[in-house]
Amino acid sequence: MKTLRTLVALAAAMSFSAGFVPAEEKAVNPQIRKIVDEVSEARIKSIIEKLVSFGTRNTMSNQDDPARGIGAARQWIFDELKSYSPRLQVRFDKYRVKKQGQRIFKDVDLYNVIAVLPGAKMPETQVLVSGHYDSLNLGNRPAGGAAAGPATDAPPVPIGERPQPTLEESEKNADLPAPGACDDGSGTAAVMELARVMSQYEFDKTLVFVAFAGEEQGLIGSSLLAVKSHKENQAIEAVLNNDIIGTDVSGNGRTGNTSVSVYSDETADSPSQQLARYAREIAERYLPSLKVNTVFLGDRLGRGGDHTPFQWEGYAAVRLSTPNEIYANQHRATDTLENMSVPYTTRVARVNAAVAASLALAPKAPVVMREPRPPAPAGAAPGATPSTTPAPPPTAAGAVPPRRPSPTISRGRSGYDALLQWKPAGPDDNIKGYTIVIRATTSPYWEQEIYVGKVTEYTLKDVSIDDAKFGVKAIGNDGSESLVSAYVYPPRLKTEVLTVQ
Ligand SMILES: [Zn+2]
Repeated sequence: MKTLRTLVALAAAMSFSAGFVPAEEKAVNPQIRKIVDEVSEARIKSIIEKLVSFGTRNTMSNQDDPARGIGAARQWIFDELKSYSPRLQVRFDKYRVKKQGQRIFKDVDLYNVIAVLPGAKMPETQVLVSGHYDSLNLGNRPAGGAAAGPATDAPPVPIGERPQPTLEESEKNADLPAPGACDDGSGTAAVMELARVMSQYEFDKTLVFVAFAGEEQGLIGSSLLAVKSHKENQAIEAVLNNDIIGTDVSGNGRTGNTSVSVYSDETADSPSQQLARYAREIAERYLPSLKVNTVFLGDRLGRGGDHTPFQWEGYAAVRLSTPNEIYANQHRATDTLENMSVPYTTRVARVNAAVAASLALAPKAPVVMREPRPPAPAGAAPGATPSTTPAPPPTAAGAVPPRRPSPTISRGRSGYDALLQWKPAGPDDNIKGYTIVIRATTSPYWEQEIYVGKVTEYTLKDVSIDDAKFGVKAIGNDGSESLVSAYVYPPRLKTEVLTVQ
């Protein structure tokens, strides 16, 4: 009801001269529909079976045994990815990690496995789909997000007080059975199955399928790749990380195979939150029976995943995870195929397929203007754009204090409108036009969309910029939608007031 009221209020305040979003914009793309349907439950099951068969995939386990341990597992993943299509460029992303802390108890070779499907029109722009192929058995230590031992009897161990394994325990754990079917055989299987299905199609942007190692030692493989990608100025538009997508009944019996949690971060209107909103909208279009639970938190409380290092490097990244975990099986020999749900993993894999394909076929998100062009001729209206605001006076020391950054949105010529400006992120021949999105500041999702055609600025008459959030997205010639670029306004900087004495 609240949403409806807000919509009515917004609608009343707004000019509709530009018309509504054309119907075809929200249409299902038959090619994406087909890709989603081709994701195979049987294949996902056989991938997890094979991953489990390596006994352990602990990053610190034997690397030379041809049948057991992480060395055998990564080689199989590499060969399997290569077999899917000659168009997939498969490689090991290799590092030599130095001994550090208790969990990396010796220098170790760490390989992420990467398969790249080059884009046809925007090959420099990448969409990553990831999971971690390494596994862990913590021995006697408390597992997952709860207590060790029998889940029903053991007292809960507060997350902050959970003891870390000692160096000796880590060494011993490296060779214990660690099937890792759900954590994270499920995510790895989803990544591999998507690589198989999607490599039969062509996309505008480059798709990158990544199986990380070293997640259980502290997000090691993902941190190394994220830092390297940033250093190399890689244009990663989105990271869809899958970790623990294999159970649909939680350890206490709560069920829910019709939802998946998508974690982003806590910064309002961050790129990761826009990606989460996009994932929700696309997933519910192609898989209407599945609810996407957008969680505006970095991860489950006190716990981590491979999307976070990409956020640290400034990329939009989210984690897909089940809302129904079985803590007693995590990081244990009981994390087996029998204790998970392959149909659920398949559904989440299909979410990834729909979102990754939609992004890879859509235009890049527009760039919202940093410094709005001042509306011509500046009258005496109170709507003077911030770019015409006089700079603050110099301090006593003569240095000009940092100005508050200008908002990327202004009140337009009248002083009472919302003037939005943007530019395409590159060549715009694949862009049909742009859609402005609006929502109340308290609303999680965009509530109103206005298709404004192929322009780079638009005035929403008589709409206050002070009590709503605004964004803009590009619409492709085929109706595909880019991520939203939001107009965000950084917080006011603290004022240092000079006094005499
Ligand atoms: Zn995991």
